Amino acid sequence: MKKIAIYGKGGIGKSTTVSNISAAMASMGLTVLQVGCDPKADSSRNLTEGQNIPTVLEVLRKKGDPELEDLVVKSTTGVYCVESGGPIPGVGCAGRGIITAFEKLEELDAFGVYQPDVVMYDVLGDVVCGGFAMPIRGGYADDVCIVTSGEMMSLYAATNISHAVRSFGKRGYASLRGLILNAKNFEGEQELVDKAAAEIGTPVLYRMPRNQLVQKAEADGKTVIEAFPDSDMAEHYRTLAKLLLDGGEDV
Ligand code: ADP
Ligand code: MG
Repeated sequence: MKKIAIYGKGGIGKSTTVSNISAAMASMGLTVLQVGCDPKADSSRNLTEGQNIPTVLEVLRKKGDPELEDLVVKSTTGVYCVESGGPIPGVGCAGRGIITAFEKLEELDAFGVYQPDVVMYDVLGDVVCGGFAMPIRGGYADDVCIVTSGEMMSLYAATNISHAVRSFGKRGYASLRGLILNAKNFEGEQELVDKAAAEIGTPVLYRMPRNQLVQKAEADGKTVIEAFPDSDMAEHYRTLAKLLLDGGEDV
């Protein structure tokens, strides 16, 4: 079982990237479990026909003792989807919520029951508190990748996340594989990301172009892999998926 956590600033394109990677892996015949760790709880929306699925925290609030089937939704693409969800705004703690969701999945033996070949964690990286760092520690993820553009705030988040991975890494947990550049297409962007990667001491694993097919597919509640399987963009996602499975770099 390969366990990969994809971090990044809110809105940078984590869920888009992760869902397309998951769909690409599923189309290769792999069993994939995608776990959204973001109070926005829309990680797997494009795998589930544009619908938000019930979150672990919501289900726990409504039904104290849920079954695994209440928490895991099998998408049309074959990917098993989980959303940890968020707390009641202004009351709970989002990081604590992720810890609760992980504990529940473990208690119900989600990995044993679904036997995934790959687990993809889609994690909000703006605040790497104990809760949001869960996938990095405790043996949840093997590899961490950070989605970033050349914009300052997303590079700032990338640097923060890399520090968190490195500090846990000393204790033998997940390791940082590299950055995934999700381009915003402004002048000098590639160089800015190259410079940040060098400062962090990690490679730019992949350079994902901006492509309107992402929005077109999204409007239909689909990934690019499902909606436009023959497009260049789908090929980019498949290439990145293989890269994450195999190891190595593609610069
Ligand atoms: P996050 O999960 O990091 O909050 P999302 O994956 O929801 O971010 O992406 C935010 C928006 O950016 C999405 O609505 C999507 O349409 C757009 N987007 C992401 N990646 C790309 C891309 N490579 N090309 C075009 N649009 C993209
Ligand atoms: Mg998201």
